[in-house]
Amino acid sequence: MRPSGSRPRFTRFTSFTCRAVLALVALVALASCGGSDRGAMVSTANPHASEAAIEILNMGGSAVDAAIAAQLVLSLVEPQSSGIGGGAFLMHWDASAGEVDAYDGREMAPAAAGPDLFLKADGTPMSFFDAVIGGRAVGVPGVIAMLWRAHQDHGLVDWEDLFQPAIRLAEGGFKVSPRLNAMISAFNGLSQHASTRNYFYIDSIEVAGAVEPLPVGYLRTNAEYAETLRRIAENGPAGFYEGKVAQAIVATVREHEKNPGLMTVDDLKAYEAKKRTALCRPYRLYQVCGMPPPTSGGLTSLMILGLLEGFDLSGLRPGSPVAVHLISEASKLAYADRAVYMADADFVNVPVSQLLSARYLKFRALDIHPGQSMGKAKPGTFNTSREPKHAADLSQGRLSTSHLAVVDGNGNAVSMTTSVEGPFGAHVMAAGFILNNQLTDFSFQPSINDKPVANAVAPGKRPRSSMSPTLILDDDGDLFAAIGSPGGSRIIAYVTQTIIGLIDWQLDMQSAIDLPRHVNRNGPIEIEDQTDLVGRVKELEALGHKVDVKSLVSGLHGVRVHDGALDGGADKRREGVVLTTGQGQ
Ligand code: GLU
Repeated sequence: MRPSGSRPRFTRFTSFTCRAVLALVALVALASCGGSDRGAMVSTANPHASEAAIEILNMGGSAVDAAIAAQLVLSLVEPQSSGIGGGAFLMHWDASAGEVDAYDGREMAPAAAGPDLFLKADGTPMSFFDAVIGGRAVGVPGVIAMLWRAHQDHGLVDWEDLFQPAIRLAEGGFKVSPRLNAMISAFNGLSQHASTRNYFYIDSIEVAGAVEPLPVGYLRTNAEYAETLRRIAENGPAGFYEGKVAQAIVATVREHEKNPGLMTVDDLKAYEAKKRTALCRPYRLYQVCGMPPPTSGGLTSLMILGLLEGFDLSGLRPGSPVAVHLISEASKLAYADRAVYMADADFVNVPVSQLLSARYLKFRALDIHPGQSMGKAKPGTFNTSREPKHAADLSQGRLSTSHLAVVDGNGNAVSMTTSVEGPFGAHVMAAGFILNNQLTDFSFQPSINDKPVANAVAPGKRPRSSMSPTLILDDDGDLFAAIGSPGGSRIIAYVTQTIIGLIDWQLDMQSAIDLPRHVNRNGPIEIEDQTDLVGRVKELEALGHKVDVKSLVSGLHGVRVHDGALDGGADKRREGVVLTTGQGQ
């Protein structure tokens, strides 16, 4: 894939000139475009990434510029979650145009992949573990193409300059964080492939010939990643999708000893990031805008909110049994529809407008009773058929991924969720970065009981995601909040619960993020251990629910606009930080 179309503005300036001009442009923009003097803010999953974003924002960079710098750093310091070997969705708020854009950088199945990708010779599905590690599940990465596309539309700082914080950190080294150390320790499969063994482990001082995970505080450098970044900085997407980096990806995928994949250099060259129409729907006095398919995130979250519209949640306390019950019931109905209807809409007919129609949601909400659980929800049907055409997809996704939110000095915002699936994707590295295993988000079974599954593998298709980057607008049509989370298929529940916290309970961003988590994916209510919700189990059981108490590690990062000021939150369950301009390096 070649850089195409117009080059981003200011691209010919040197860094120094660029900074000076940008500072001027930022001031003029503030005066002329209704920009605010409230500064800029970022929330990401790692302090290094937030600092990189702030460095760019302090140069007068846009929200997209800052998100790019942060992503390139996350790829290095949080490789278990996201990176340039993965995919992402980015929602953008353009303050001067009053527009929401949705960018799709989801991974794509190679041209040679078919519905049998995850079937064994006897036609039964492979085990998840057998599918993940190696080349088979690696989808054509979309992050770089998507960031390039968003930068062409909304970038202010030279593309090359956005790579400098990550290159500096890759060459100078970053200290291994407690979470990275814990994740390496938890995912020992990483030591099976030479590329990841050499990078994530050191020789054991106790046992000759053995290795141990990089300790906390170890200064990890990554010269290969720095070289890759330089190529992409200089050549645009061609530095990734063609030449040495593309060849390294294909070699790693195809030459894996136990589980080779099908990706070719032509697949990489053919990858296209897509600009899609955001899904926006009113909730109370706000407009909530989510990402359309191939993620199920926006659609399912908007459905849950739509189903709850008839219930006065603001009159209930957060975490009260009735509030948890109502949100759970609405979630069950939406997750039931998600299972049968949602997949890559470029390949299957996803009835988006029917699922979001007020009439349909009102009808479905009749099954929600404040005093009694409905049990397991069945998918809804539309006028044309008595039964959904597709069988329910049983795939659940795994727990990794990262979310970042940025609001720049002109009031533009980015809400971006990014993932290598994983943790640590396919547990293999090429050219200094982890390769995703996102194709395991497809249904392993192309059909169930002779019914096709909408989310079956097909050449060039994008696997159904749960990622839910969200932008919320207030009743004047101005930005209210940017929010999202990792968490596999629980992402939808985490994000929706936080939206309810912000809107119905008028919580500040941090308090909404801190709410004890509860999730219902059309089964038991999962509630977060070591929280007040544990004391509510009996009352929830009395309403007819089965309840599972467990650790629920959301990773919500968000920024809210409140009374003209920015208010950020970072999930204490992970390592993220909120920074504002004037802070950081
Ligand atoms: N791969 C998942 C998705 O796209 C996300 C995994 C996660 O959040 O851990 O929905």
